[in-house]
Amino acid sequence: MAMNPEILVRVHDVGKSYRLGEIQIQALNGLSIDIQAGEFTALIGASGSGKSTLLNLIGCIDEPDRGAIVIDGQDVARLDEVQKSELRNRKIGFIFQSFNLIPVLTVEENIELPLLIQPEVSPVERARRVQAALQDVGIAEYKSHYPDRLSGGQRQRVAIARALVTDPKLILADEPTANLDSKTAHKIIDLLLELNKKKNVTFFFCSHDEKLIGRVGRVVHIADGVIKT
Ligand code: ADP
Ligand code: MG
Repeated sequence: MAMNPEILVRVHDVGKSYRLGEIQIQALNGLSIDIQAGEFTALIGASGSGKSTLLNLIGCIDEPDRGAIVIDGQDVARLDEVQKSELRNRKIGFIFQSFNLIPVLTVEENIELPLLIQPEVSPVERARRVQAALQDVGIAEYKSHYPDRLSGGQRQRVAIARALVTDPKLILADEPTANLDSKTAHKIIDLLLELNKKKNVTFFFCSHDEKLIGRVGRVVHIADGVIKT
């Protein structure tokens, strides 16, 4: 597939279904979307519309039944499992609704985790990057705390720092504000927008909440597994 160099993610005519006993659920139904490098895109759709399925496919966590997904010029279908996990670990960061922090690790240790599988990053460099990520999300003073001592907003900041620490090109955020009160949710969106500008990281953010997206540059709607224009 010909690639425009500015297109970081290309999803072309993707279909994905799940089997639930006798029933086949068509989660994505010939969905196409391009994401430009540096863009902040909000994907908005009701529960069950296919948001998480799409993010999981772009994140190389799952595979489509049909169609193509190209990330940073690499056709994901042509990659073997090792290449796919390399792509996932080095180019993509993930942020989830439920934060997914490890409770027995401190804030600092949680953020450090994705760097431990990058052997070329030395311990000194690791410490430097963790410190920088802590500063970027404004939680440096909590670095020695365990996640259960933090508020929801603080936990999500830790998860954002963990996504940032590998310096990925793309951050996928699956309803990162759904477990937060609306004031905290807006602060988290503001932080993501600021990081997008400051670090030129591409964000693909999904939510069911239309009210959150006042200042997001590009808003895309999804319904029944397709993009609605
Ligand atoms: P959203 O994130 O927008 O709520 P999802 O992508 O999770 O939507 O789900 C899209 C559709 O696929 C829904 O009908 C959902 O029930 C179904 N679905 C998602 N994951 C699975 C799964 N693992 N097994 C069966 N059905 C699933
Ligand atoms: Mg979902």
